[in-house]
Amino acid sequence: MNTQTALKTSVCILGAGPAGILLGNILLQNGIDCVIIDKYSREEIYARGRAGAIESTTINLLKKHGLADTIFQNGYAHDRCEFRSPYYSIMLEYGKLSGGDVHYFYPQSDLNDDFIQKYLDAGGKILFGYEGKKIVQTDDDITVECSEQDSNITITIQADFVAGCDGYHGIARQSIPEKAVDIYHKQYPYSWLAILAYVPPAAKHTIYALHPDGFAAYMLRNSKVSRYYLQIPLDDDINNWSDERIWTTLQKRLALKEWTLKEGEIFEKRMMSLRSYVMEPLRYKRLLMAGDAAHIITPMGGKGLNMAVQDAGVLAETLINYYQEEQDISYLDRYSEIRLPYIWRAQEFSYGMLNMIHLPESEDPSDMRFRYKLSESKLAQLNTSGTFARDFARNYVGII
Ligand SMILES: Cc1cc2nc3c(=O)[nH]c(=O)nc-3n(C[C@H](O)[C@H](O)[C@H](O)COP(=O)(O)OP(=O)(O)OC[C@H]3O[C@@H](n4cnc5c(N)ncnc54)[C@H](O)[C@@H]3O)c2cc1C
Repeated sequence: MNTQTALKTSVCILGAGPAGILLGNILLQNGIDCVIIDKYSREEIYARGRAGAIESTTINLLKKHGLADTIFQNGYAHDRCEFRSPYYSIMLEYGKLSGGDVHYFYPQSDLNDDFIQKYLDAGGKILFGYEGKKIVQTDDDITVECSEQDSNITITIQADFVAGCDGYHGIARQSIPEKAVDIYHKQYPYSWLAILAYVPPAAKHTIYALHPDGFAAYMLRNSKVSRYYLQIPLDDDINNWSDERIWTTLQKRLALKEWTLKEGEIFEKRMMSLRSYVMEPLRYKRLLMAGDAAHIITPMGGKGLNMAVQDAGVLAETLINYYQEEQDISYLDRYSEIRLPYIWRAQEFSYGMLNMIHLPESEDPSDMRFRYKLSESKLAQLNTSGTFARDFARNYVGII
């Protein structure tokens, strides 16, 4: 039997990832009724290992809302990162260069789960295991039809607004007519192999390597787990990458005199296609888009989670003002106007950093050698140009 229920709320939030759950917390703190739905269970959401670098701008936003405590308790502060090529190593002291700002390394899954707990403790409503299937808009309201995974229970949520925080593959993005927004999209000509392994830290800072065979990176996750990335051909097959080949390649690309890359059990490896995407504007009638649903930023520079959280902060503030000051719906355009310049700055930073430390893909070996030397020259300027180093450090530690 098909069971149907109807719910009414002010803001229906699609997705309990960082954008959705932060938005829910701030709305709740300000007395605005909301319901969050996510197609996965809390445990399944927790199991997704993703980002780890939380930038200073995000920390300041979370502090303002009293939500940064667990990051300070359990995260690691970072103020430097290293760039390597086979010929030199540059330590970028971005904390000092930026005037004292730092990153905190704290796994996204833990941060997200902390936010879920805080939202539930504050009496927030969240429906785990419910998938949004359809969004219908009228002039006066917006409705989300959702159904419980693996059952016949369907729920219709009627709201003033829907926040589309359901990621790139969610239904919010798909429910917007093509002609209603401008879409900017770029597919990069290579992929990344993302690896998680049980290896204690080889260094406390992140290491990025530019190598004639391609990019590689090392990142600390916690005292037992390390993350690594390798640039691989766009259409490579993950089955080509045995554990042995991964370690040999990492050893080669990250090599530095008197530094040893530790090895250990690889427990996750996956291919990531690299793309950039932005939707403009971030509002379609009563649907407001945030996080990966509205923009994808390559993982280079660690901006995706941070932009998602910062979107949620501005969206919450805009909705709070809308309700408290009884504004007209066009007031909500402010959200797009405020966020898009930051989103584009993050895109531009990530794009520039990607080009600086990746082997360019080209059919012509002579073109590739030439462009590799240009990348080396750019990288070296982190050491030789104070202006470039300061500007890079400022954007790396937090777009402001
Ligand atoms: C390997 C990897 C490493 C990364 N590293 C970094 C990093 O170091 N720093 C950084 O800043 N960013 C990083 N990112 C990017 C970052 O993880 C994302 O930008 C961030 O998760 C975006 O948050 P979000 O809330 O917008 O979307 P998501 O985290 O994708 O959350 C969307 C939620 O919506 C739910 N959902 C989807 N469809 C529906 C539906 N139809 N109905 C109901 N619910 C639905 C999903 O279950 C999910 O919980 C990384 C990403 C990956 C994959």
